[in-house]
Amino acid sequence: MSAPAIRLVAFDVAGTTVNDDGLVVAAFKVAFEKSQPELWPEKGAIWTQYAIDTMGQSKIHVFTELLGDIEKARAANVAFEEAYMNEVAEQGISPIAGTLEIFAHLRERGIAIALTTGFSRSTLDPMLFELGWLGLIDASVTPEEAGRGRPHPDMLNFLANKFNIQSPELVMVVGDTAADMQSGVAFGATNIVGVLSGAHDQETLHDAGATSVINSIADLSSLI
Ligand SMILES: [Mg+2]
Repeated sequence: MSAPAIRLVAFDVAGTTVNDDGLVVAAFKVAFEKSQPELWPEKGAIWTQYAIDTMGQSKIHVFTELLGDIEKARAANVAFEEAYMNEVAEQGISPIAGTLEIFAHLRERGIAIALTTGFSRSTLDPMLFELGWLGLIDASVTPEEAGRGRPHPDMLNFLANKFNIQSPELVMVVGDTAADMQSGVAFGATNIVGVLSGAHDQETLHDAGATSVINSIADLSSLI
């Protein structure tokens, strides 16, 4: 029996469909330094490594884990978003090569295109506007809109509900981090694709549950 046809592909944003080039990590550093100037010299290296290891998770959740309370986390998240948007404004934002082609490939086949992220809506929307993607995708969802961020499956459940998709096997999950893969496993997806264009390496993605690992989104059409 052949595998059921995919109806929706849920793509991560930074490192998967959008070039990151270290922008997210740089914004984390600015946020820590700005919001926790006393602790930064001592904790900076540990915090930065934690931010790299947990890439793909909800940013506010990562700040809460590190700083211990929600108020400090909110302040750090505001600083993070400011720093990230400043860097985007300075350096520009660009799709990872092959993204527009795969969007067109899916469109032609009637497969829905959705984005999931660890960013909040106030960061994601200006990015989508800047990229000119608002008309190219069918949906996007952020952690707070779905409930919890990755590695929880909430954003994927949200999308499945939105598109009235009953079986997780009909959803392909694509991302660059362990958290992306873990959310796909928790959701019950059987097509969980890791890409090597972002934060984590092949072994990390496989260990987290990737069913395939490809160099980048440019290689995705062979899997659909
Ligand atoms: Mg990512």
